[in-house]
Amino acid sequence: MDFTLSDEQKMIQQTVRRFVERELMPLENEMLQSEGKYSTGIEPTLFHSLRMKAKEMGFWGINTPEEYGGANLGAVMTALIAMELGRTLVPFSFGGAADNILYLGNEQQKKEYLIPTIEGTRHSCFALTEPRAGSDPSAIRTTAVKDGNHWVINGQKVFITGGNEADFTMVFAVTDRNKPPQNGGVTCFLVDREMGWTSRPVPTMGGWSPAELFFENVRVPEDHILGEVGRGFSLGMQWIGQGRWLIAARCVGTAERLLQMAVDYARQRVTFGQPIADRQAIQWMLADSKVEIEATKWLALHAAWKADQKMDNHHEASIAKLYGSGMANRVVDRVMQIHGGMGYTRELPIERWYRDLRVTRIYEGTDEIQHFIIARDLLKGYVKIGAWE
Ligand SMILES: Cc1cc2nc3c(=O)[nH]c(=O)nc-3n(C[C@H](O)[C@H](O)[C@H](O)COP(=O)(O)OP(=O)(O)OC[C@H]3O[C@@H](n4cnc5c(N)ncnc54)[C@H](O)[C@@H]3O)c2cc1C
Repeated sequence: MDFTLSDEQKMIQQTVRRFVERELMPLENEMLQSEGKYSTGIEPTLFHSLRMKAKEMGFWGINTPEEYGGANLGAVMTALIAMELGRTLVPFSFGGAADNILYLGNEQQKKEYLIPTIEGTRHSCFALTEPRAGSDPSAIRTTAVKDGNHWVINGQKVFITGGNEADFTMVFAVTDRNKPPQNGGVTCFLVDREMGWTSRPVPTMGGWSPAELFFENVRVPEDHILGEVGRGFSLGMQWIGQGRWLIAARCVGTAERLLQMAVDYARQRVTFGQPIADRQAIQWMLADSKVEIEATKWLALHAAWKADQKMDNHHEASIAKLYGSGMANRVVDRVMQIHGGMGYTRELPIERWYRDLRVTRIYEGTDEIQHFIIARDLLKGYVKIGAWE
């Protein structure tokens, strides 16, 4: 078993680290000052110019197939890059990527949606959640009714990431009430904003806002179905499953940055004539954080490695997301505690991370849903305890 990174992996990791330190971290102060101003957390033209700068350095489509102009670096490298990007508060990601389910479109749909998304000229959003259907997506009520060679969509979606900026949405609607949603009842549609859906931001405790989407008699041509009629539910699950280990990877980078801040502060903050670093109470918080970060790192990399081997990694992805998001929330809490009153102020990024990280325990499957998946896999024998796979 070899845990060392290859020379190529180290080189890419170091290059991304330098990009984060030189281009992104200097923007953090300004970002803290402009909180709430931009729904993506950062001024859109600045975001675009950073992506173009990264593209010039070769960071484009890091996990996109080469036939679509990507670098196809694989899941492990993508996880290592996510760890580096997680080190800054700036919510940046490299361009040249598209949602996994857009690759399942027909040739025309790939031309109209997939390729422009990869190129960065069109922006997508994934709209499954509704006011009464989150953890249980089989409860969605948005409907699509056939009318000639169109479908007419009515309903409301909520908490849709990127929904305020998106040019089109992948929206999930009930197309047959007589069939179970998981088996024939739900269909996914590719719907341009010009077809008539509207959006408005949902203010949150974090630094960026998802959107509510409204569909009122939105007419969609029938060739805008992604996949087949009635096959939407499995597409939705496929989308959600793609990123759980990436959330854990990003949490590693964030927690490492926070832990470094705590170590530096503990060394220089003196109370009762001694640095607080000399106190066991502080040392244990540092040590517990390091242990949990290290555990998350390997959980995320194992889930990513399984993805690279084309193995089913849903169990490992759930474990990584459950543990990693909890870890990041515990670490930021300890790091705030170590900083005392300063940690609570807006002078430092800690309080912002404290708020932003909370959502990692909610989106893409809550803690409780990850517990459910892990326990189900054990109880139904989908995974074998003690097996090496
Ligand atoms: C910032 C943000 C961005 C998001 N982005 C998107 C997006 O882009 N697209 C999209 O479609 N959705 C998105 N979501 C929605 C997100 O996936 C849901 O919020 C999440 O799945 C939980 O659903 P809910 O909010 O309806 O909570 P509910 O499902 O109502 O759950 C409420 C509570 O009950 C618990 N619970 C529910 N069922 C069970 C159970 N069976 N056993 C035990 N406990 C249970 C939950 O864990 C939770 O604690 C986003 C949410 C947020 C906050």
